Formats: sequence, C-alpha cells, structure tokens
Amino acid sequence: MAQVTGVTYDAAVIGGGVLGCATALHLARGGMRVVLVERGALCAQASGVNAGTLSMLHFRRLELVSYALRAWEMWKTAPEWLGGGMEFGAQGGLVLAFNGREAELLEAKTAELKAAGSPVGVVDTARARQIEPGLGPGVVLASHCPMDGHANASLSGRVFRAALVAAGVDLREGQEVTALDPGSGGFEVRATGGIAVARRVVLAGGVWLGRMAAWFGLNAPVSCRVQQMAVTERMALVMGTILGNVNGRLSLKQVDNGTVLIGGGWIGKGDPDRGGNEVISASLVGNIRLARYAIPALARARVVRVWLGLRDVYPDDRPIIGPLPGIDDAYIIGCGISGFTIGPYLGKLLAQRILGQEPEMALFDPARVVTAR
Ligand SMILES: Cc1cc2nc3c(=O)[nH]c(=O)nc-3n(C[C@H](O)[C@H](O)[C@H](O)COP(=O)(O)OP(=O)(O)OC[C@H]3O[C@@H](n4cnc5c(N)ncnc54)[C@H](O)[C@@H]3O)c2cc1C
Repeated sequence: MAQVTGVTYDAAVIGGGVLGCATALHLARGGMRVVLVERGALCAQASGVNAGTLSMLHFRRLELVSYALRAWEMWKTAPEWLGGGMEFGAQGGLVLAFNGREAELLEAKTAELKAAGSPVGVVDTARARQIEPGLGPGVVLASHCPMDGHANASLSGRVFRAALVAAGVDLREGQEVTALDPGSGGFEVRATGGIAVARRVVLAGGVWLGRMAAWFGLNAPVSCRVQQMAVTERMALVMGTILGNVNGRLSLKQVDNGTVLIGGGWIGKGDPDRGGNEVISASLVGNIRLARYAIPALARARVVRVWLGLRDVYPDDRPIIGPLPGIDDAYIIGCGISGFTIGPYLGKLLAQRILGQEPEMALFDPARVVTAR
C-alpha cells in the first residue's frame, strides 16, 4: 500500500486516548510534525467513558501524588492550554470507612498520602456530615480532600480534537494500525487507510498496548479490568462531594445536570481483543447498593443507563512511560489507575523526553516490565 501523503512525520502516535492526545499535542507544540492514528474516534474508549474523578485520595502508588497534583492544575486550567473547558469542578471529596477495620486502613492510608504531599486529612463523622449532609449512618470515619473534583470525560474527544487540529497534528481517526515496520527512512505505520512514515513512534493504546508491543516482538504485560458505570435520572441535589471508599469499591458523584454517576469496584465481563463485553447485573447491583448505603437518598434514584469501559492494568500498578527497550526511537505510554487524572501531565512529560528536553519529572521506565517475547 502506498504512503498516503508522501511526507515523513517526526512522530506518529498510535492511539487517541487522553495519553496519546496529550503526547501528540505537546510534540506538535514543541515543533514536530505529528500524525495521530486512532482506530475509532478520539477518546471514545477509557478516556471518554470514565468517571472523570480527579482525586488525590486514591493512589496505591504514593509516588504518583506529585504527578497528580500537577495534572489537576492542568485540568483546572484546561481552557488556557487545551483551548476548551472540561466542566472542571473541585467540590471536594471524601473517602468513607464503614467499619473498624476499614477505619484503621483509612487512617494509615491517609497518613501515607499526606506524607506524600496530598492535601488530605482524616475527619470524624460529625465533620464528614457537615461536608456531605447526605451521608448515611453506616459511615464510621472519613478522609477529606478539598481539591478532589471532576472533569467531564465525555468532552475530552471533542476538546482534544480542536486543540490537535489547531496545533497542526495530522489526525487520522477511524484508521486501525495493523503493523509497524522499521525501515531505513523511518517507521512505516501500516493502517487501514494507508501507510504513514515517521521517524519516531509512540504507542498509546491503553488496554491494547500488549498487542502493539508485539509488533516489535516485545511482551508488555498489560491486563484489562472491565469497569461498570451507571447513571441515574436527574435528581434534586442529594450530594455535593465526590465519594469513594477505602477499598476502592465506591465511586460516586452528582454532576451539574443533576444525574448521579455510580461506578464501582465490582466489575463487568469482557476482553479487549475477543469482545463479548457484558454488564454483570450482580456486580451492578453491588455497586448501586453500596452507593445507596453511602447516600440513602439514592434509594429514590432510577438508573437510566449503564456502560462498560476497559481499563489497562500493569503488574506493579505503576505507569509505563518512556522508550521501548531495545528499539530506537520507539516509545510507549500507559497509566492504568487514575489515568484520566494524570494523563495530560504524563503526555507532556513523554513529549519533553522525545523533544530532547529533560522531563520536569521522572518517567516510569517501561524496561522494568516490557521484555522480549
Ligand atoms: C469505566 C472507567 C472509569 C474510570 N474512572 C476513572 C476516573 O474516575 N478517574 C481517573 O483518573 N481514571 C479513571 N479511569 C482510568 C482512565 O480512564 C484510563 O486510565 C485512561 O483514560 C487511559 O487512557 P489511554 O489513552 O491510555 O487509553 P484509551 O483511552 O483506552 O485510549 C487508547 C486508544 O487506542 C486506540 N487503539 C487501540 N488499538 C489501536 C490500533 N491498532 N490502531 C489505532 N488505534 C488503536 C483505541 O481505540 C483507544 O482509543 C477509568 C477507566 C474506566 C474504564
């Protein structure tokens, strides 16, 4: 198949989720000629269907706190650097404990997060109810972060598309990359719409990163968590904060239009390659029951829509960002947990590295988990 445009790009980014889009945008703004190839529409997978929570209360890896604080600032100032608002709000968040064991865990976790720089603190139930009057009687302790908030993930495709076009990125949506061949003049990116040639390549495929790494004969151990989301009909105000619980089962918020978004730890079924993605009703019921336990007024709520999203998971719960081991000029970027929160900043850091600058903060060397097959 012929090279589509006859140009050789400085960089090709494969995958247009928030990580790929942010990387492409910063590369283009750094002066590179960039093509971004996305199989579907921009941010239509995890980056567009996620809960949009921007939280400083939930990191399994404490080293991510300082990245998240910078990323939070980026979401807050999105109109300035991204050119469009993401309905950012910082209404504060609570993590709830429902029994003594959870309370102990919450105290320990909050102390660690605080030591890592997260602006969080434990609050007793009286204070928690001042912050969130709708809380149910089952709460025994909470931690609070006034910075916690959300952005509307469903806007990310539209907002990034406008920014990427304005930055001169050649956007190829609806084109699936099937192979990458290193050639003397650069990588040949073979996509369903034709071939693009680029001197550097960035793999940004979320749960499909394992398949992408295999193009280079590498094994990237990326697994998939099928997350379930539900949204209620519009309701009068039943809650004002972002709620989670200490074991990660609960994700709850009421957004500006009055609907309540309920995510949760009980998962759905599916496979990124074979499909067959399905809502597991027992899991959904578990998520909704816990949401009602936290906010009893939700007993009146009717769920109007349910959907699934595929989240990437790495063996040590740390992002992989940097050069692909053993392959010159090829890079990989994936985050997994809190990838929407941190994504824009991680893309900026990788772009700095590719542009030959010293990244503001350390990358997460893929070589620790990406190996030869
Ligand atoms: C339901 C759900 C809720 C979540 N909630 C939150 C939250 O509240 N807060 C938070 O911080 N994080 C959350 N996350 C995590 C977050 O959404 C992800 O970590 C992040 O969006 C991943 O971004 P990404 O760009 O790496 O991947 P993706 O958004 O999945 O993008 C990868 C892209 O690669 C494309 N692609 C794959 N193969 C090819 C190919 N061969 N050719 C071309 N393109 C290809 C795909 O089509 C896709 O668009 C949630 C995730 C899910 C699923």
